[in-house]
Amino acid sequence: MSESKFEKLEKELLLDRRNGFEKTEHKENEAAFKFSEDYKKFLSECKTERECAFYFEEEAKKNGFKELGEYKTLLPGDKFYIKNTEKAILIGVLGEKAISEGVCCIAAHIDSPRLDLKPNPLYEDSDIAYFKTHYYGGIKKFQWLTIPLAIHGVIVKKDGEKVRITIGEDENDPVFCISDILPHLGNAQMSGEARKIIPGEKLNVIIGSVPVDDEKVSKKVKLNVMMLLNEKYGITEKDFVSADIEVVPAYKARDIGIDRSLVGSYGHDDRVCAYTAFKAILEANAPQKTAICYLVDKEETGSSDSTGMQSAFFGNIVALLAKMTDENYDDVTARKALMNSECLSADVTAAYDPNFAEVFEANNSTYLNGGVALMKYSGARGKSGTSEAQAEFVEKITSKLTKNGVIWQVGELGKVDEGGGGTVAQFFAILGMNVIDCGVPLLSMHSPFEIASKFDIYMAYKAYLTFLR
Ligand code: MN
Ligand code: MN
Repeated sequence: MSESKFEKLEKELLLDRRNGFEKTEHKENEAAFKFSEDYKKFLSECKTERECAFYFEEEAKKNGFKELGEYKTLLPGDKFYIKNTEKAILIGVLGEKAISEGVCCIAAHIDSPRLDLKPNPLYEDSDIAYFKTHYYGGIKKFQWLTIPLAIHGVIVKKDGEKVRITIGEDENDPVFCISDILPHLGNAQMSGEARKIIPGEKLNVIIGSVPVDDEKVSKKVKLNVMMLLNEKYGITEKDFVSADIEVVPAYKARDIGIDRSLVGSYGHDDRVCAYTAFKAILEANAPQKTAICYLVDKEETGSSDSTGMQSAFFGNIVALLAKMTDENYDDVTARKALMNSECLSADVTAAYDPNFAEVFEANNSTYLNGGVALMKYSGARGKSGTSEAQAEFVEKITSKLTKNGVIWQVGELGKVDEGGGGTVAQFFAILGMNVIDCGVPLLSMHSPFEIASKFDIYMAYKAYLTFLR
Protein backbone atom coordinates (compact mmCIF):
# COMPACT_ATOMS: atom_id res chain seq x y z
CA MET A 1 0.00 0.00 0.00
CA SER A 2 1.34 3.41 -0.86
CA GLU A 3 1.78 6.08 1.77
CA SER A 4 -1.14 8.44 2.22
CA LYS A 5 -0.66 12.20 1.99
CA PHE A 6 -1.05 12.64 5.73
CA GLU A 7 1.24 9.75 6.59
CA LYS A 8 3.85 11.47 4.48
CA LEU A 9 3.24 14.81 6.17
CA GLU A 10 3.37 13.17 9.59
CA LYS A 11 6.87 11.94 8.80
CA GLU A 12 7.95 15.32 7.47
CA LEU A 13 6.48 17.57 10.12
CA LEU A 14 6.40 15.67 13.41
CA LEU A 15 9.13 14.33 15.67
CA ASP A 16 9.50 10.56 15.35
CA ARG A 17 8.70 9.30 18.85
CA ARG A 18 8.71 5.58 18.09
CA ASN A 19 10.57 3.03 20.21
CA GLY A 20 14.22 2.85 19.14
CA PHE A 21 13.89 -0.80 18.10
CA GLU A 22 11.37 0.23 15.44
CA LYS A 23 13.78 2.73 13.96
CA THR A 24 16.80 0.48 13.48
CA GLU A 25 17.81 -2.66 11.61
CA HIS A 26 17.99 -6.05 13.27
CA LYS A 27 21.77 -6.04 12.90
CA GLU A 28 22.05 -2.89 14.95
CA ASN A 29 19.98 -4.41 17.75
CA GLU A 30 22.20 -7.47 17.80
CA ALA A 31 25.27 -5.25 18.11
CA ALA A 32 23.58 -3.44 21.00
CA PHE A 33 22.97 -6.69 22.89
CA LYS A 34 26.54 -7.84 22.30
CA PHE A 35 27.99 -4.51 23.47
CA SER A 36 26.53 -4.92 26.97
CA GLU A 37 28.25 -8.26 27.67
CA ASP A 38 31.61 -6.68 28.43
CA TYR A 39 29.91 -3.73 30.13
CA LYS A 40 28.25 -6.08 32.64
CA LYS A 41 31.62 -7.60 33.49
CA PHE A 42 33.07 -4.14 34.06
CA LEU A 43 30.15 -3.20 36.35
CA SER A 44 30.52 -6.39 38.38
CA GLU A 45 34.24 -5.87 38.88
CA CYS A 46 34.52 -2.10 39.32
CA LYS A 47 32.45 -0.72 42.18
CA THR A 48 34.56 2.19 43.40
CA GLU A 49 36.06 5.19 41.59
CA ARG A 50 39.55 3.84 42.22
CA GLU A 51 38.67 0.47 40.70
CA CYS A 52 37.14 2.22 37.67
CA ALA A 53 40.13 4.53 37.13
CA PHE A 54 42.46 1.54 37.42
CA TYR A 55 40.37 -0.49 34.94
CA PHE A 56 40.36 2.35 32.39
CA GLU A 57 44.10 2.88 32.82
CA GLU A 58 44.84 -0.80 32.17
CA GLU A 59 42.49 -0.96 29.16
CA ALA A 60 43.96 2.27 27.76
CA LYS A 61 47.48 0.84 28.04
CA LYS A 62 46.39 -2.33 26.23
CA ASN A 63 45.09 -0.11 23.42
CA GLY A 64 48.30 1.82 22.86
CA PHE A 65 47.74 4.78 25.18
CA LYS A 66 50.77 6.01 27.12
CA GLU A 67 51.10 8.07 30.29
CA LEU A 68 51.31 11.74 29.19
CA GLY A 69 54.61 12.13 31.06
CA GLU A 70 56.21 9.55 28.77
CA TYR A 71 55.85 11.88 25.77
CA LYS A 72 58.54 14.50 25.07
CA THR A 73 56.62 15.81 22.06
CA LEU A 74 53.02 15.11 21.05
CA LEU A 75 51.98 14.50 17.44
CA PRO A 76 48.51 14.17 15.89
CA GLY A 77 47.18 10.69 16.57
CA ASP A 78 49.22 10.24 19.75
CA LYS A 79 47.21 8.54 22.49
CA PHE A 80 47.76 9.56 26.08
CA TYR A 81 46.25 9.40 29.55
CA ILE A 82 46.89 11.09 32.86
CA LYS A 83 45.45 10.22 36.24
CA ASN A 84 44.39 12.70 38.90
CA THR A 85 45.51 10.65 41.93
CA GLU A 86 43.93 7.17 41.86
CA LYS A 87 40.40 8.53 41.57
CA ALA A 88 40.04 10.28 38.22
CA ILE A 89 41.55 9.79 34.78
CA LEU A 90 41.76 11.86 31.60
CA ILE A 91 42.29 9.98 28.35
CA GLY A 92 42.99 11.70 25.03
CA VAL A 93 43.98 11.48 21.40
CA LEU A 94 45.80 14.46 19.90
CA GLY A 95 43.95 15.98 16.94
CA GLU A 96 45.14 17.48 13.65
CA LYS A 97 44.16 21.01 14.69
CA ALA A 98 45.97 23.14 17.26
CA ILE A 99 44.78 22.88 20.87
CA SER A 100 44.00 26.62 20.76
CA GLU A 101 41.22 25.81 18.29
CA GLY A 102 39.54 23.81 21.05
CA VAL A 103 39.13 20.21 22.19
CA CYS A 104 36.15 17.85 22.11
CA CYS A 105 35.61 16.49 25.60
CA ILE A 106 33.25 13.87 26.96
CA ALA A 107 32.99 13.97 30.75
CA ALA A 108 31.42 11.30 32.93
CA HIS A 109 31.74 10.49 36.62
CA ILE A 110 32.91 7.23 38.15
CA ASP A 111 31.69 7.71 41.72
CA SER A 112 28.28 6.25 42.64
CA PRO A 113 25.99 6.60 45.65
CA ARG A 114 27.06 4.25 48.47
CA LEU A 115 27.86 3.99 52.17
CA ASP A 116 31.31 5.12 53.32
CA LEU A 117 32.88 3.88 56.54
CA LYS A 118 33.32 6.59 59.16
CA PRO A 119 36.92 7.27 60.30
CA ASN A 120 36.24 5.38 63.54
CA PRO A 121 33.81 2.74 62.27
CA LEU A 122 34.16 -0.37 64.40
CA TYR A 123 31.98 -0.78 67.50
CA GLU A 124 30.13 -3.43 69.43
CA ASP A 125 26.57 -3.35 70.70
CA SER A 126 24.76 -6.23 72.43
CA ASP A 127 27.41 -8.73 71.32
CA ILE A 128 27.24 -7.75 67.64
CA ALA A 129 30.11 -5.93 65.93
CA TYR A 130 29.20 -3.20 63.44
CA PHE A 131 30.76 -0.73 61.03
CA LYS A 132 29.36 2.80 61.27
CA THR A 133 28.78 4.44 57.90
CA HIS A 134 28.08 7.87 56.47
CA TYR A 135 26.09 7.65 53.27
CA TYR A 136 27.58 9.21 50.11
CA GLY A 137 25.33 10.87 47.53
CA GLY A 138 21.57 10.97 47.32
CA ILE A 139 20.11 7.65 48.44
CA LYS A 140 16.79 6.37 49.74
CA LYS A 141 18.28 4.94 52.91
CA PHE A 142 15.68 2.18 53.34
CA GLN A 143 16.79 0.61 50.03
CA TRP A 144 20.11 -0.33 51.63
CA LEU A 145 18.65 -2.59 54.33
CA THR A 146 18.49 -6.37 54.03
CA ILE A 147 20.57 -6.64 50.85
CA PRO A 148 23.95 -8.38 50.61
CA LEU A 149 26.77 -5.82 50.86
CA ALA A 150 30.45 -5.93 49.96
CA ILE A 151 33.30 -3.84 51.31
CA HIS A 152 35.82 -2.25 48.93
CA GLY A 153 38.59 0.18 49.67
CA VAL A 154 42.13 1.12 50.53
CA ILE A 155 43.84 1.53 53.86
CA VAL A 156 47.13 3.39 54.08
CA LYS A 157 49.20 2.07 56.99
CA LYS A 158 51.64 4.16 58.98
CA ASP A 159 54.62 2.88 56.98
CA GLY A 160 52.87 4.14 53.80
CA GLU A 161 51.92 0.67 52.64
CA LYS A 162 48.58 0.64 50.80
CA VAL A 163 46.32 -2.28 51.61
CA ARG A 164 43.51 -2.96 49.14
CA ILE A 165 40.41 -4.63 50.51
CA THR A 166 37.59 -6.39 48.69
CA ILE A 167 35.32 -8.64 50.73
CA GLY A 168 32.01 -9.98 49.50
CA GLU A 169 32.55 -10.35 45.75
CA ASP A 170 34.00 -13.86 45.59
CA GLU A 171 31.41 -16.63 45.85
CA ASN A 172 33.25 -18.00 48.89
CA ASP A 173 33.47 -14.61 50.63
CA PRO A 174 31.12 -13.64 53.42
CA VAL A 175 28.88 -10.63 52.73
CA PHE A 176 27.63 -7.93 55.08
CA CYS A 177 24.20 -6.55 55.84
CA ILE A 178 22.15 -3.85 57.55
CA SER A 179 19.20 -5.27 59.46
CA ASP A 180 15.60 -4.07 59.37
CA ILE A 181 12.81 -4.56 61.87
CA LEU A 182 10.30 -7.35 61.25
CA PRO A 183 6.82 -6.23 60.10
CA HIS A 184 5.31 -7.64 63.29
CA LEU A 185 7.12 -4.94 65.27
CA GLY A 186 7.27 -2.36 62.51
CA ASN A 187 4.08 -0.41 63.29
CA ALA A 188 5.78 2.79 64.37
CA GLN A 189 8.32 2.60 61.55
CA MET A 190 5.70 1.95 58.86
CA SER A 191 3.43 4.79 59.93
CA GLY A 192 6.25 7.34 59.69
CA GLU A 193 7.52 9.47 56.82
CA ALA A 194 9.61 7.54 54.28
CA ARG A 195 12.64 9.75 54.81
CA LYS A 196 12.55 8.91 58.52
CA ILE A 197 12.07 5.15 58.15
CA ILE A 198 15.76 4.68 58.61
CA PRO A 199 17.82 7.58 60.02
CA GLY A 200 21.39 7.89 58.67
CA GLU A 201 22.83 6.87 62.02
CA LYS A 202 21.08 3.49 61.78
CA LEU A 203 22.97 2.52 58.60
CA ASN A 204 25.22 0.23 60.65
CA VAL A 205 26.65 -2.78 58.87
CA ILE A 206 26.87 -6.11 60.73
CA ILE A 207 30.48 -7.28 60.75
CA GLY A 208 30.60 -10.15 63.24
CA SER A 209 29.11 -11.80 66.32
CA VAL A 210 31.67 -14.14 67.90
CA PRO A 211 33.32 -13.01 71.18
CA VAL A 212 36.86 -13.82 72.28
CA ASP A 213 36.94 -16.11 75.27
CA ASP A 214 38.26 -13.82 77.99
CA GLU A 215 36.21 -12.29 80.78
CA LYS A 216 38.75 -9.48 81.26
CA VAL A 217 38.12 -8.03 77.80
CA SER A 218 35.23 -5.53 77.63
CA LYS A 219 34.46 -5.55 73.87
CA LYS A 220 34.88 -9.23 73.06
CA VAL A 221 33.18 -9.33 69.63
CA LYS A 222 34.85 -6.13 68.46
CA LEU A 223 38.25 -7.49 69.47
CA ASN A 224 37.63 -10.74 67.64
CA VAL A 225 36.72 -8.86 64.43
CA MET A 226 39.81 -6.66 64.76
CA MET A 227 41.98 -9.77 65.30
CA LEU A 228 40.62 -11.31 62.08
CA LEU A 229 41.20 -8.08 60.13
CA ASN A 230 44.71 -7.83 61.57
CA GLU A 231 45.46 -11.41 60.63
CA LYS A 232 44.29 -10.90 57.04
CA TYR A 233 45.39 -7.31 56.33
CA GLY A 234 47.87 -6.43 59.07
CA ILE A 235 45.81 -3.44 60.18
CA THR A 236 44.90 -2.01 63.57
CA GLU A 237 41.88 0.13 64.51
CA LYS A 238 43.91 3.31 64.02
CA ASP A 239 44.40 2.49 60.33
CA PHE A 240 40.70 3.09 59.59
CA VAL A 241 41.45 6.80 59.98
CA SER A 242 43.66 6.81 56.88
CA ALA A 243 41.33 4.79 54.69
CA ASP A 244 38.76 5.16 51.90
CA ILE A 245 36.38 2.25 52.46
CA GLU A 246 33.07 1.94 50.67
CA VAL A 247 30.13 -0.37 51.31
CA VAL A 248 28.41 -1.36 48.05
CA PRO A 249 25.91 -4.01 46.89
CA ALA A 250 27.57 -7.44 46.70
CA TYR A 251 25.80 -8.74 43.60
CA LYS A 252 26.75 -8.72 39.93
CA ALA A 253 25.12 -6.97 36.97
CA ARG A 254 22.39 -9.13 35.41
CA ASP A 255 20.12 -9.18 32.38
CA ILE A 256 16.55 -8.18 33.15
CA GLY A 257 13.51 -9.41 31.22
CA ILE A 258 12.65 -12.58 29.34
CA ASP A 259 13.93 -10.81 26.20
CA ARG A 260 17.12 -9.84 28.09
CA SER A 261 16.77 -6.27 26.81
CA LEU A 262 17.73 -4.51 30.05
CA VAL A 263 20.70 -4.53 32.42
CA GLY A 264 20.13 -4.36 36.17
CA SER A 265 23.10 -3.29 38.26
CA TYR A 266 24.53 -1.17 41.01
CA GLY A 267 26.40 1.89 39.68
CA HIS A 268 24.98 2.54 36.20
CA ASP A 269 25.05 6.18 37.37
CA ASP A 270 27.41 7.11 35.95
CA ARG A 271 29.60 4.19 34.97
CA VAL A 272 27.34 3.54 32.00
CA CYS A 273 28.42 6.87 30.48
CA ALA A 274 32.03 6.47 31.65
CA TYR A 275 32.29 3.04 30.02
CA THR A 276 30.64 4.08 26.74
CA ALA A 277 32.68 7.31 26.54
CA PHE A 278 35.84 5.30 27.16
CA LYS A 279 34.94 2.78 24.44
CA ALA A 280 34.42 5.74 22.08
CA ILE A 281 37.81 7.33 22.75
CA LEU A 282 39.53 4.00 22.09
CA GLU A 283 38.25 4.34 18.53
CA ALA A 284 38.75 8.07 18.04
CA ASN A 285 41.69 7.64 15.70
CA ALA A 286 43.17 10.78 14.12
CA PRO A 287 40.39 13.19 15.10
CA GLN A 288 40.28 16.77 13.75
CA LYS A 289 40.17 18.35 17.18
CA THR A 290 41.90 16.75 20.15
CA ALA A 291 39.54 14.20 21.70
CA ILE A 292 39.34 13.91 25.48
CA CYS A 293 37.46 11.55 27.75
CA TYR A 294 37.54 12.82 31.34
CA LEU A 295 36.28 10.44 34.02
CA VAL A 296 35.91 12.26 37.32
CA ASP A 297 35.11 11.61 40.95
CA LYS A 298 32.82 13.31 43.52
CA GLU A 299 29.93 14.26 41.21
CA GLU A 300 27.42 12.78 43.61
CA THR A 301 28.48 15.20 46.34
CA GLY A 302 28.73 18.34 44.22
CA SER A 303 32.08 17.92 42.40
CA SER A 304 33.82 20.05 45.03
CA ASP A 305 36.99 18.10 45.55
CA SER A 306 40.45 17.97 44.00
CA THR A 307 39.34 14.88 42.08
CA GLY A 308 35.97 16.37 41.12
CA MET A 309 35.02 18.54 38.17
CA GLN A 310 35.42 21.80 40.09
CA SER A 311 39.15 21.23 40.49
CA ALA A 312 41.60 23.02 38.17
CA PHE A 313 42.84 19.68 36.84
CA PHE A 314 41.00 19.80 33.49
CA GLY A 315 42.04 23.38 32.67
CA ASN A 316 45.60 22.63 33.72
CA ILE A 317 45.85 19.60 31.44
CA VAL A 318 44.44 21.52 28.46
CA ALA A 319 47.08 24.20 29.16
CA LEU A 320 49.77 21.55 29.38
CA LEU A 321 48.68 20.01 26.06
CA ALA A 322 48.72 23.47 24.44
CA LYS A 323 52.18 24.15 25.81
CA MET A 324 53.51 20.79 24.58
CA THR A 325 52.21 21.31 21.04
CA ASP A 326 52.27 25.06 20.35
CA GLU A 327 55.57 26.88 19.84
CA ASN A 328 53.75 30.24 20.05
CA TYR A 329 52.22 29.31 23.42
CA ASP A 330 51.54 32.34 25.61
CA ASP A 331 49.38 33.16 28.62
CA VAL A 332 46.13 33.34 26.64
CA THR A 333 46.58 30.18 24.54
CA ALA A 334 45.07 27.87 27.15
CA ARG A 335 42.14 30.18 27.84
CA LYS A 336 41.46 30.48 24.10
CA ALA A 337 41.59 26.69 23.85
CA LEU A 338 38.93 26.31 26.54
CA MET A 339 36.67 28.98 25.00
CA ASN A 340 36.80 27.12 21.67
CA SER A 341 36.13 23.72 23.23
CA GLU A 342 32.97 21.66 23.26
CA CYS A 343 31.76 19.13 25.78
CA LEU A 344 29.23 16.37 26.15
CA SER A 345 28.39 16.10 29.82
CA ALA A 346 27.78 12.36 29.79
CA ASP A 347 25.46 11.53 32.65
CA VAL A 348 22.36 9.48 33.24
CA THR A 349 18.85 10.85 33.50
CA ALA A 350 15.52 9.47 34.74
CA ALA A 351 13.62 7.30 32.29
CA TYR A 352 9.83 7.71 32.23
CA ASP A 353 8.41 5.23 34.73
CA PRO A 354 4.73 4.33 34.14
CA ASN A 355 4.54 3.17 37.78
CA PHE A 356 5.25 6.74 38.85
CA ALA A 357 3.76 8.62 35.91
CA GLU A 358 2.59 11.42 38.21
CA VAL A 359 6.09 12.96 38.50
CA PHE A 360 6.81 12.90 34.73
CA GLU A 361 5.55 15.03 31.87
CA ALA A 362 5.09 12.48 29.11
CA ASN A 363 5.89 14.81 26.22
CA ASN A 364 9.20 15.89 27.69
CA SER A 365 10.47 12.69 29.25
CA THR A 366 13.06 10.26 27.98
CA TYR A 367 12.13 6.59 27.63
CA LEU A 368 13.78 3.18 27.90
CA ASN A 369 14.81 2.10 24.38
CA GLY A 370 14.31 5.63 23.08
CA GLY A 371 18.04 6.04 22.38
CA VAL A 372 20.66 8.31 23.94
CA ALA A 373 19.01 11.08 25.99
CA LEU A 374 19.80 14.75 25.47
CA MET A 375 18.94 17.29 28.16
CA LYS A 376 19.02 20.90 27.02
CA TYR A 377 19.09 22.01 30.64
CA SER A 378 18.76 20.56 34.13
CA GLY A 379 18.31 22.46 37.40
CA ALA A 380 15.17 23.01 39.47
CA ARG A 381 12.51 25.68 40.13
CA GLY A 382 12.68 27.99 37.14
CA LYS A 383 15.81 26.32 35.73
CA SER A 384 17.75 27.54 38.76
CA GLY A 385 21.34 26.37 38.89
CA THR A 386 21.37 25.01 35.38
CA SER A 387 23.66 25.42 32.43
CA GLU A 388 21.50 25.49 29.34
CA ALA A 389 22.84 24.40 25.96
CA GLN A 390 22.36 27.09 23.34
CA ALA A 391 20.06 26.45 20.39
CA GLU A 392 23.01 26.65 17.97
CA PHE A 393 24.93 23.95 19.83
CA VAL A 394 21.88 21.70 20.21
CA GLU A 395 21.28 21.92 16.45
CA LYS A 396 24.91 21.10 15.72
CA ILE A 397 24.87 18.03 17.95
CA THR A 398 21.45 16.65 16.94
CA SER A 399 22.21 17.06 13.22
CA LYS A 400 25.49 15.23 13.63
CA LEU A 401 23.84 12.40 15.58
CA THR A 402 21.02 12.01 13.04
CA LYS A 403 23.44 12.03 10.12
CA ASN A 404 25.43 9.21 11.72
CA GLY A 405 22.44 6.99 12.47
CA VAL A 406 22.40 7.60 16.24
CA ILE A 407 18.91 7.25 17.74
CA TRP A 408 18.42 10.08 20.23
CA GLN A 409 15.64 11.56 22.30
CA VAL A 410 15.27 14.71 24.34
CA GLY A 411 13.64 15.33 27.71
CA GLU A 412 13.69 16.87 31.15
CA LEU A 413 14.28 15.05 34.45
CA GLY A 414 10.63 15.28 35.55
CA LYS A 415 7.68 17.62 35.89
CA VAL A 416 8.28 21.32 36.51
CA ASP A 417 8.75 21.97 40.26
CA GLU A 418 8.66 18.24 41.03
CA GLY A 419 12.34 18.20 42.00
CA GLY A 420 15.48 18.46 39.93
CA GLY A 421 19.20 17.96 39.85
CA GLY A 422 22.44 19.00 38.22
CA THR A 423 25.43 17.48 36.47
CA VAL A 424 29.03 18.51 35.77
CA ALA A 425 27.82 20.50 32.70
CA GLN A 426 27.84 23.75 34.68
CA PHE A 427 31.55 23.44 35.46
CA PHE A 428 32.45 23.26 31.77
CA ALA A 429 30.15 26.21 31.09
CA ILE A 430 32.20 28.23 33.61
CA LEU A 431 35.27 27.63 31.43
CA GLY A 432 33.43 29.20 28.49
CA MET A 433 32.75 25.90 26.76
CA ASN A 434 29.65 24.85 24.85
CA VAL A 435 28.18 21.89 26.72
CA ILE A 436 25.10 19.68 26.68
CA ASP A 437 23.99 16.77 28.87
CA CYS A 438 23.87 13.55 26.90
CA GLY A 439 23.50 10.12 28.51
CA VAL A 440 21.49 7.02 29.28
CA PRO A 441 17.99 7.11 30.83
CA LEU A 442 17.58 4.88 33.90
CA LEU A 443 14.76 3.38 35.91
CA SER A 444 15.33 3.34 39.70
CA MET A 445 18.22 5.81 39.43
CA HIS A 446 20.35 6.05 42.60
CA SER A 447 18.99 2.75 43.92
CA PRO A 448 21.23 -0.26 44.65
CA PHE A 449 19.87 -1.93 41.47
CA GLU A 450 19.41 0.55 38.62
CA ILE A 451 17.97 -0.42 35.23
CA ALA A 452 19.28 0.62 31.81
CA SER A 453 18.38 -0.55 28.31
CA LYS A 454 21.01 -2.26 26.16
CA PHE A 455 19.75 -0.31 23.18
CA ASP A 456 20.27 3.04 24.91
CA ILE A 457 23.70 2.00 26.22
CA TYR A 458 24.80 1.19 22.68
CA MET A 459 23.36 4.44 21.32
CA ALA A 460 25.28 6.41 23.97
CA TYR A 461 28.47 4.77 22.75
CA LYS A 462 27.60 5.61 19.13
CA ALA A 463 26.74 9.20 20.07
CA TYR A 464 30.06 9.69 21.87
CA LEU A 465 32.02 8.20 18.99
CA THR A 466 30.21 10.48 16.54
CA PHE A 467 30.97 13.53 18.70
CA LEU A 468 34.70 12.77 18.94
CA ARG A 469 35.24 12.06 15.26
MN1 MN B 1 25.25 11.02 37.50
MN1 MN C 1 23.78 10.60 40.38
